[in-house]
Amino acid sequence: MTRTVYVNGEYLPETEAKVSIFDRGFLMADAVYEVTSVLDGKLIDFEGHAVRLKRSLDELDMAEPCSKEQLLEVHRKLVELNGIEEGLVYLQVSRGSDGDRDFVFPSADTKPTIVLFTQNKPGLADSPAAAKGNRIISIEDIRWGRRDIKTTQLLYPSMGKMMAKAAGCDDAWLIEDGYVTEGTSNNAYFVKNGKIVTRPLSTDILHGITRKAVLRMAAEAQMEIEERLFTIDEAKEADEAFTTSASAFVMPVVEIDGVTLGDGTPGPVAKRLREIYLDESRKAAV
Ligand code: PMP
Repeated sequence: MTRTVYVNGEYLPETEAKVSIFDRGFLMADAVYEVTSVLDGKLIDFEGHAVRLKRSLDELDMAEPCSKEQLLEVHRKLVELNGIEEGLVYLQVSRGSDGDRDFVFPSADTKPTIVLFTQNKPGLADSPAAAKGNRIISIEDIRWGRRDIKTTQLLYPSMGKMMAKAAGCDDAWLIEDGYVTEGTSNNAYFVKNGKIVTRPLSTDILHGITRKAVLRMAAEAQMEIEERLFTIDEAKEADEAFTTSASAFVMPVVEIDGVTLGDGTPGPVAKRLREIYLDESRKAAV
């Protein structure tokens, strides 16, 4: 089936959708993005993604392509047109182009480019990967210093996933100045003696929409949470570990740099949080 995608106000078959070769998203990764998951044909935490998109745009002095209400309408229409029950909606906004390449930003009246498309992922919630848990490696974090802005500069995270794959693993956690920042495309946590530990928010990590929701739900479930810097060695000695992201929800981690955590199966805290998160998110989906 040909997907219907959205480009600058138009719904088009994916084969007919076009963006200029001078677009700054293409030439300079001068673009921000969001990925919103879809369960039961509904959007999970659309509000959170819309608010973070606005923040990313503001931080980069990039114009808003449309209102939040219009954005919601486009998301919903694409989900409907493409018959998505479980999957993702990818959204990207770039600074557009004034028809040439220049380091200097184009004039403020240059229209941003907005693109959305869906990805059909049946079985996203009932994932075999989550039942098994991820095996991860640690690598140095050499990304730029504004990781709180969700830009499309994903080359190093992509290389990190390839390094993990080459090592026979599923993903990588990034280390800076001896401390874990986050995963290649997720926030990182470990659990020791019932306490959930994760790095506090700063410009060093992406402010995960799932992180915020999961920490709120964990607090509501009377779980103990500590936001502080942590080393990979602490995580290796933990009872269990996990990651969070909009596309994988709560993903247990069962091995770090070849060290097995607990009995090598997903831990009780990660499993419980995944269940709570999926349950609550489905109820609140729009
Ligand atoms: N950190 C990074 C580097 C990411 O790419 C992502 C996913 N985009 C996350 C964390 C998780 O964020 P969210 O829960 O909003 O998907």
